[in-house]
Amino acid sequence: MATPAEGAPVVGVLALQGDVLEHLRALRRVGADAREVRTRGQLDAVDALVLPGGESTTIGRLLEVFDLLDPVRDRVRAGMPVLGTCAGMILLATSLDQDRPQPLIGVLDVQVRRNAFGRQRESFDVELTVPELGEPPVDVSFIRAPVVTEVRAEDVEVLAEVELGPVLVRQGHVWAAAFHPELTGDDRLHAAFVGSLRRVTG
Ligand code: GLN
Repeated sequence: MATPAEGAPVVGVLALQGDVLEHLRALRRVGADAREVRTRGQLDAVDALVLPGGESTTIGRLLEVFDLLDPVRDRVRAGMPVLGTCAGMILLATSLDQDRPQPLIGVLDVQVRRNAFGRQRESFDVELTVPELGEPPVDVSFIRAPVVTEVRAEDVEVLAEVELGPVLVRQGHVWAAAFHPELTGDDRLHAAFVGSLRRVTG
């Protein structure tokens, strides 16, 4: 693996459960200094964080067990950029379209429905039009994916949507994708996220 360039943004991938390795690889391909985050010390050392896909109830529970739920929330509230994908989108939302409570980071003003695409279409790849990422459409995987059911603040930008609703949103420095951008080798979303850090950190 190539060593990141001097001054490359340090991007953590929350490494409690989920597809951590694929995100680390995608981030490295776009030039970030990507590192696993499993402890408070590791969290303190990163400029930005990626929350991988996986199982949001498990990751939420583990965030509590590892004493990371409040520290991650505090850092995001203090301005640390974050990109959540799939389960990561669920964890970032302030509200879920379900009665059962589960631990959430709760920093993105949207309501999300888990497993929104139904059992018969649990997994599928899509060429998703994301105007901000240009042409051609982005190749992404939906795996038991959530969807945004309600946007609850004016500064939430919908960057991409499908028939069911928004699947890529951004509220300031908080980015969330319902799909997996890290599985197909199309790294444009990771590149845009890392590019936004370069603009901030110089
Ligand atoms: N359905 C999962 C959840 O609710 C998310 C699936 C995924 O991350 N691929 O956590």
